[in-house]
Amino acid sequence: MGEPQQVTRGVHRLGSSLVSWYLVEEGDRLTAVDAGLPAFARDLERQLAQIDRRPGDVEAVILSHPDADHTGVAPRLRDAGARVLIHSEDDASLRKPGHKGGDASRRHLITQLYKPAFWRFVGGKARAGSMSPAAIDGAENFAHGDRLDVPGSPRIVHTPGHTPGHCSFLFEGHRALFVGDSMCTSNPLGRSEGPQLMPKVTNVDDERAVISLDAMEALEADVILPGHGDPWHGSPAAAMRRARATR
Ligand SMILES: [Zn+2]
Repeated sequence: MGEPQQVTRGVHRLGSSLVSWYLVEEGDRLTAVDAGLPAFARDLERQLAQIDRRPGDVEAVILSHPDADHTGVAPRLRDAGARVLIHSEDDASLRKPGHKGGDASRRHLITQLYKPAFWRFVGGKARAGSMSPAAIDGAENFAHGDRLDVPGSPRIVHTPGHTPGHCSFLFEGHRALFVGDSMCTSNPLGRSEGPQLMPKVTNVDDERAVISLDAMEALEADVILPGHGDPWHGSPAAAMRRARATR
């Protein structure tokens, strides 16, 4: 597991080369954006100590969606006192994790089985605990357009497609747009780098994922922070244009 990396003022990237989650500071207060893989819990206190923090400093965990590689340390942070928040349309899957449907159903995953990158990614995630996601009950729910009363006051942008309730988070004060898996900057199942949509087989509704790029295009930010791949410095308009060109 890598060391925490400061992306921009008040924004830290944590996790591994496969999966990122983030901490956003507002003064002494912290919001976690996503929560990585379950195995990250093993290293959580050591990683936080490197930025002079401890789990109890995290006031809220806001989840872009409930896939197991985004909820990993949320139970630990909640035990330490954090609120957990997710879009209402994804709340049921957070309470009862299961297989994804639509374009991401197992039938479509079969088409990836011959690709070595698929096994690297799935194998790496399985070793890190993505096959045993935590069920989280009683999360608070947010909706498109909400401005959350958590550190950094992020605005909710509903970006469905990867999951029905997938959301991105705009921290206007940090000029940072956290996009979850509405797009990525490194294909987790291949080799291509740069802003792009997630592989079709990971999206519940791939057409909706393409349309969701429109919802982010006009936002004002200087850095795009995805769940998979390096942060990308540039405008949402430029990132979405490049992502759209990959379909
Ligand atoms: Zn993911």
